[in-house]
Amino acid sequence: MSIKIIPHEQLEKQNDKISIINKIPLLFYPNPKTLYAQRVKRMQFLAKESAFVDYLQFCTKIVSAQAGIAENENIVVDLVKTVESATQKNCPPLSLDNYPLTKEWINYLYSIMDAAQNINDFINQTIDVLRQNSESELLNKAENLLKGKFDLLSSNESLFIWSALSVYYSLLASHLPGKAVAEVSEKRWLCPVCQNSPVGSVIHIGSNLGLRYLHCSLCESEWYVPRAKCTNCDNTENINYYSLDDELASVKTECCEHCHSYLKVFNQERDAHLDIVADDINSLILDMETEKEGFAKSGINPLLFSAEE
Ligand SMILES: [Zn+2]
Ligand SMILES: [Zn+2]
Repeated sequence: MSIKIIPHEQLEKQNDKISIINKIPLLFYPNPKTLYAQRVKRMQFLAKESAFVDYLQFCTKIVSAQAGIAENENIVVDLVKTVESATQKNCPPLSLDNYPLTKEWINYLYSIMDAAQNINDFINQTIDVLRQNSESELLNKAENLLKGKFDLLSSNESLFIWSALSVYYSLLASHLPGKAVAEVSEKRWLCPVCQNSPVGSVIHIGSNLGLRYLHCSLCESEWYVPRAKCTNCDNTENINYYSLDDELASVKTECCEHCHSYLKVFNQERDAHLDIVADDINSLILDMETEKEGFAKSGINPLLFSAEE
């Protein structure tokens, strides 16, 4: 099963074909104006007792800059035609194939670099390199990242560029007019909005109590996926869970014996305040322990390129 976005007017025609699965919310577009501000608060809270306090403090500066951009920016774009052409091409509306990269995000990159200046020499060197890049060099690097060619950039360059792209795509995603429907297909676990990998999955509380959603590493949308299923190969047998503390831990790794990949599951029923990106960094020791068991991570943390690539 996969999730696809279609124009509103097509939803009526599809109604008779819509199965029971479409009666649950399949997709949540992000709300950048609150998401980054909440992530800052969560990082500040976790940093008080974290083994990764320095890194969380560095990330807090980046995410604070993202929050400032999202707060002040009003992207006015009409994406109706974008969704219509994506339906015709049968691809996600904000995938590179349907929505070519423009250069609006480059201003966001400069704001984020300003916020991270003078933390240490290593970061200053990365910022100097990026500041010397022309617009076309930056666009080229961004396109490589969006195509998954992470090895062509240093991990620090990737972190800054991805952070800027992420605010841009989350603002675009928050304006998308289409409705999500489920369809049977082979494409399983990439974001139905922008075609990028998830950070991990979140088990929701509130009106969607107990439902599981993957969270996009780029545009911050969330899309439905059933529980106890490998999000990499669709396998439902021999799925094992690891956690550091106990059975009731809010963060576990979901490990597939079939494809030997894993992705973290963050359970809001156990901790209502968790933020997937912040809590993923804070639980890095769980990644190390899971990788020792022979599993490879199938997701991306936008603030941790060096750990995954
Ligand atoms: Zn996405
Ligand atoms: Zn698998």
